[in-house]
Formats: sequence, C-alpha cells, structure tokens
Amino acid sequence: MEEDEIAKPAKPKAKKDTAPGRLIDTYAAQCENCHKWRVIDSQEEYEDIRSKMLEDPFNCQKKQGMSCEEPADLDYDSSRTWVIDKPGLPKTPQGFRRSLVLRKDYSKMDTYYFTPTGKKLRSRNEIAAFVEANPEFKNAPLGDFNFTVPKVMEDTVPPVPKLGSPISTTTTEKSSFKQIQD
Ligand SMILES: [Zn+2]
Repeated sequence: MEEDEIAKPAKPKAKKDTAPGRLIDTYAAQCENCHKWRVIDSQEEYEDIRSKMLEDPFNCQKKQGMSCEEPADLDYDSSRTWVIDKPGLPKTPQGFRRSLVLRKDYSKMDTYYFTPTGKKLRSRNEIAAFVEANPEFKNAPLGDFNFTVPKVMEDTVPPVPKLGSPISTTTTEKSSFKQIQD
C-alpha cells in the first residue's frame, strides 16, 4: 500500500439538525408453522436468523424453551410500527454494526454501517473506500454489506401527529421476516 488514502474525509455532512428518526427497538421473527411472532432478543441473533431464513425458515422451536403451543410474543397490529425485512440478507461483518433508522415522517428507512472505529458509512462506495484504506478489515466481504432496507408497513404507521402534539411514545419499530407479498 503506497498511498494510504485514509477513508475519504467525511464531508461535513449537511446534517440538518432535525431529530434523527426512530430506531428499531424490537426484533421479531414469524414461525413458519403456527405463524406466531416471536421476539428475538438481539440484533445479532436476528441477523443470524434472517441470513438463513430462506434455507432454514424460523420456527418456534428455534427459540429456547418455546413451542408453537405458547401464545404469540406479540401480534402484528398498529399498536406499533412494523418494518418488514427481506429474508436472506447477509449478517453484518464482525466488528461492524448495521443501523436502521426510520425517517421521522415514516416514509422509509435508511441503512448505515458503523465501522469498528465508529465511523458511519452510508453507501457501498464508502464501505469500499474504508476497506481499501483499512486493510485489516479486508476479510469483511463487500458483499456482506447490504443497504436493502425493510419495508415500512403502511397499515401500522400512526396517523400524522397534529402539529404541536408530542410524538407518540407508543411507537416501536419492529423488524421481522414476514415475507412481503408483491
Ligand atoms: Zn410456531
């Protein structure tokens, strides 16, 4: 490496000082047998399930001590806002963190990756530049960074809050494996 071009100087992002949006606070997966939703405890575990979803669909038995006989951990309804992930997305490479943020207006989600050094990367190009400049992360395959965002389920988006009214605190975001029909 000759020209160790440090990952592009992060442009002073035109960071409008608005609230950053909402983060996912609950992960869930749907059992292929009974169709109940099961809470998945961590993002890592969730990503693991999601990555294998196509070859190895989730079912209740995969959760410790759980069976299809037990009542659902939660129901798909508008008491919270749901976002539905595409199954089969790769697991986030070791040391990196994937962040999903729901825009304040609920229009869509944005994906970012945080590097082990805490740098925020917003696109494949930024990832490539970072890995190029930091060869110690070369073992993180570029294909494992994926910016596919979950679909925001419109039927669970709260009605537009009236001006001046506090933002609903009941809203939680949920990722799940429910496959989107069409
Ligand atoms: Zn089940």
